[in-house]
Amino acid sequence: MKKIGLITSGGDSPGMNACIRAVVRTAISKGLCVTGFYRGYDGLIDNDYVELTAKSVSNIIHRGGTILKSARSPRFLSKEGKLLAVEHIKQHLLDGLIVIGGDGSFKGASALTDLYPIKVIGCPGTIDNDLVGTDYTIGYDTAINTVVDAVDKIRDTAESHDRIFVVEVMGRDAGLIALRSAIGSGAEAILIPERQGDLELLIDKIKTWRNTKSSKIIMVAEGDESGGAVNVANTIKREFPNFDVKISILGHIQRGGNPTCMERVNASLMGFYAVNALLEGKTNSMIGLINKKVSYTPFKDAVKHIDELNPVLLEVLEVLSN
Ligand code: ATP
Repeated sequence: MKKIGLITSGGDSPGMNACIRAVVRTAISKGLCVTGFYRGYDGLIDNDYVELTAKSVSNIIHRGGTILKSARSPRFLSKEGKLLAVEHIKQHLLDGLIVIGGDGSFKGASALTDLYPIKVIGCPGTIDNDLVGTDYTIGYDTAINTVVDAVDKIRDTAESHDRIFVVEVMGRDAGLIALRSAIGSGAEAILIPERQGDLELLIDKIKTWRNTKSSKIIMVAEGDESGGAVNVANTIKREFPNFDVKISILGHIQRGGNPTCMERVNASLMGFYAVNALLEGKTNSMIGLINKKVSYTPFKDAVKHIDELNPVLLEVLEVLSN
């Protein structure tokens, strides 16, 4: 193996740059060259690339986003798009490819290897932390710290005015961001997609909040069946007209910002392991960290999990929020 390609694909997440840096520097230390393609699979299709050197990845470990930019590529879903990507892979004499992205990006990588025998390894880059095969995905730790930091600030103003704040966080299918950051920020309740009937439970709980003279934080994952923070706040206002209810939708700030130290270290480990996996001849697998050890999950199994959330965490939130 002499030359590998590198892309960041799907939604961006803080820590991708640390992973890019680790891939490039590990590869160079093993005598490999690295070509980065911009905007995920679009870069492979358009041959939009940069030769990455140790110097070109200096001073990025602390930056959110991705220096390679990221994209969703509808063109790559077509056979024509994939064949164009293969043409450029051949042109660059790539023996391997590392894809930093989510499960969709890994499906794309599998589809590529069906057409051309390149070895591909994935690093899980998504803030949702909802992939089978790893305890941790790049971006999650920073996202939950961003939420906790924001809620700390919201709580200051909520407390001054005895307000209920309904805070909406990311998580179309998964409530992991909501659950962890709710415990970390001392929120009073959460509404998450994995559980049905949270809004009814919340209304019952609010009945036990005897008066309107205290602040409360309610965390809602965007994919909860209640329809998000606006609907939840409107329901509370309807049921409890005396409460002062405000809404804060945190949105894309959760994707940005400097990665936490844990993020940088884990993303660096994953980038390091990804290059070594290619050199060991592994392919079509996602690098993961399980119980702090490296793991390799075939792309076909590295899908979004539909596990129940950790019941201990749910219980801790419930007990501590009363
Ligand atoms: P996120 O977790 O942020 O959504 P993701 O990697 O799952 O990240 P997707 O939009 O699902 O994001 O996938 C990224 C890109 O991977 C798609 O835009 C497409 O180019 C490619 N891709 C996804 N699924 C397939 C597939 N079945 N075949 C070929 N390419 C695919």
